[in-house]
This record gives sequence, C-alpha cells and structure tokens, in this order.
Amino acid sequence: LGGHPKPQDGPMRVPGVKRLLAIASGKGGVGKSTVSSNIAVALAKQGRRVGLLDADIYGPSQPRMMGASKRPASPDGKTIHPLQAHGVTLMSIGLMLGEDKAVVWRGPMLMGALQQMLGQVVWTHHTGGQDLDVLIVDLPPGTGDVQLTLCTKSVVDGAIVVSTPQDVALLDARKALDMFATLKTPVVGLIENMSLFHCPKCGYEAAVFGTGGVVAEAERLGLPFLGALPIDLDTRLAGDSGRPVAAGEGPMAEAFARIASDLVA
Ligand code: ADP
Repeated sequence: LGGHPKPQDGPMRVPGVKRLLAIASGKGGVGKSTVSSNIAVALAKQGRRVGLLDADIYGPSQPRMMGASKRPASPDGKTIHPLQAHGVTLMSIGLMLGEDKAVVWRGPMLMGALQQMLGQVVWTHHTGGQDLDVLIVDLPPGTGDVQLTLCTKSVVDGAIVVSTPQDVALLDARKALDMFATLKTPVVGLIENMSLFHCPKCGYEAAVFGTGGVVAEAERLGLPFLGALPIDLDTRLAGDSGRPVAAGEGPMAEAFARIASDLVA
C-alpha cells in the first residue's frame, strides 16, 4: 500500500452502535451535558435504544445528571458493562474514577481512555444484544484531543453544537464548527440554550445572554437550527437531582422530545 493509509487506520464504527451523534460546544457551561442527557432520555422515552457516553473526561457530569454512580463491572477484566439510567445505557469516565477525583492525564492516556470506552464497553449489554439505535457522545468543551481522536478513529454520523446566544460563546462555537469542517464530520445542526428567562412570578421575559444569536449563526452557515431552550429552574434542579427534566412532563420535556425526534427523523 506504499505511503497510503491502511484500511485499519480509517474511522471505525463503534461496535454495537448504529448511529453516533456527538454533542459539542465551544466553551464550558453552556449546557452541553444538560442537552446531551435530556436528548438521550427523550429518545429512550420514544422507544429508541440509546446510549450516552460522557467523554467530557476532565469534567464528567453525567453520573450526577443521570443519577448513576455505581462503578461499572468488568467481569473478564477486558469488557466493561455500562450502567443503565432512565432507559439509557450509560458510560462515563467519571464512573471509573469517582466524582471527586481530578483527571490529570496527558493526551495519550486520555485517548487511551476514550478508545477503551468506545471499544471495550458492551453497548448492547442492556438491549438483549441488539445494537443501539443512537449513541450520544457528550464531548468536552472546545477543540482538543478528545474531539480529534473521536472524529478520526470512530465514525461520527453527526455533530450538534450547543451555544448560548452570547457573543463570546458564539465565537467559540464557530471554532468548534470550523474543527468539524476540517475533520469532515457532518454537523447536524445548532441548539441555542439559555436563550430566554421567563419570570414565573411576573411573566417578564429577559434575554439574559441575548437572544437569536444562534439562529442567525445557523442561517449564516446554512446549517439547520434545532431549537431554542430557555433558562429554566426545573431543568437545573432536575439535572442536579439525577433525573433529567426530559424524564418527566411539561414544556421542557416537550422541547427536548421535539429536538430528539428531529435528530433521528
Ligand atoms: P456544559 O456541559 O456545557 O459545561 P452543563 O450542562 O453542565 O454545561 O450546564 C451548566 C450548568 O447550567 C448546570 O448547572 C446546568 O444544570 C445548568 N443549565 C444548563 N442548561 C440550563 C437551562 N436551559 N436552564 C437552566 N439551567 C441550565
């Protein structure tokens, strides 16, 4: 094959997964993990076989958001059995480490951990051996090693970029979009989070981080706009309590259900 890349060097499908969707953001704190867990739970409620991989290796939040903190079993020392929460098959580096342990790994170790989670986790463990319809990957913020490793080693069917309407977040979101373009990873669309705050007492609507910025960006780039989510106290409380708001009823659950069904339509 001379200097050409060998077939095994190209991206591989994650075993046991039909479709991999990565959820990204340019900066931290914009709600990427909240959106990831709620979309996963919404898809499970719609009868899909869904997995959620917390690849936010430096700040894993899915164990808390999904209310699953048991250490996953590895009966043979090679394969890892993921957990299940709210109908979602769940794996996070946080589950292997415990919530308070800081990760101080270098790039190669980090990539090893990611590949281990993708290749050694038995994603079909809770589905009677049937492939997952979707694996949602909650990426770390920014444009670093994890994104690069995931998109070059595994087939990523689509990336979704979450941003607030705030200028600085959008600026970073643009960098994330640029990275996916460079990696030739298709971008499925953009989500605006924390777009408005409706005061439950007086009904006043405040655009705390501005509003409409993400829609305008999607239009500018010719990418689908997947939806706007308000700042919502129940969503924050639900995330902190380990039962994502999408697991219940109400406008936020409906908003996540709409976004989720559009993603797999
Ligand atoms: P990221 O993954 O981008 O770092 P998180 O999902 O961890 O962001 O969200 C950061 C914080 O903001 C969390 O406390 C989360 O509960 C809260 N949050 C996220 N989205 C919303 C929302 N739409 N309304 C209210 N709080 C939110």
